[in-house]
Amino acid sequence: RSEEAQTEDYLFKIVLIGDSAVGKSNLLARFARDEFYPNSKSTIGVEFQTQKLDINGKEVKAQIWDTAGQERFRAVTSAYYRGAVGALLVYDISRRLTFENIGRWVNELQTHSDMNVVTILVGNKSDLKDAREVTTAEGKSLAEAQGLFFIETSALDSSNVAVAFQTVVKEIYNILS
Ligand code: GDP
Ligand code: MG
Repeated sequence: RSEEAQTEDYLFKIVLIGDSAVGKSNLLARFARDEFYPNSKSTIGVEFQTQKLDINGKEVKAQIWDTAGQERFRAVTSAYYRGAVGALLVYDISRRLTFENIGRWVNELQTHSDMNVVTILVGNKSDLKDAREVTTAEGKSLAEAQGLFFIETSALDSSNVAVAFQTVVKEIYNILS
């Protein structure tokens, strides 16, 4: 089962999903280039970005896919999900609706992916403390109920961004090796 990953020298496709404007593109920009765009439009999204990670002394490449704004029209195609082994399922802790839509994204992911995708639920914008509409406990409990990892991040102040990606990559590595 791990033959493909072995011969590809550990190249894992990971997808970013979640409602529009939750911070998917900025999480990737922060992780891959240590950049942040205060007023980003969906157009900053590149198709994917490849990032090298060190997992137990092994070089692992994460090919991280970002939407180019299709999620706005619920038009993320099956090509986007194809071959994905990991997913970051992102909501915005300051917009409750984006959290309420998580179930829909879980279904979408399950419908389009042919394997068990290692998934982390990501509550982004943890820097917006005064505008918080979803508690950490709520995030945790949804993640537990759905069998997902969980973390809160801020692409703005960088907190937990690398950990979020590393958690997914490490788990995929553990499963495949
Ligand atoms: P996407 O549509 O999910 O890709 O979201 P974007 O990455 O384009 O971000 C949408 C908006 O939220 C932009 O104005 C970002 O600057 C802002 N944003 C993204 N991440 C954060 C964050 O962690 N904290 C704050 N305060 N704003 C963020
Ligand atoms: Mg985007």
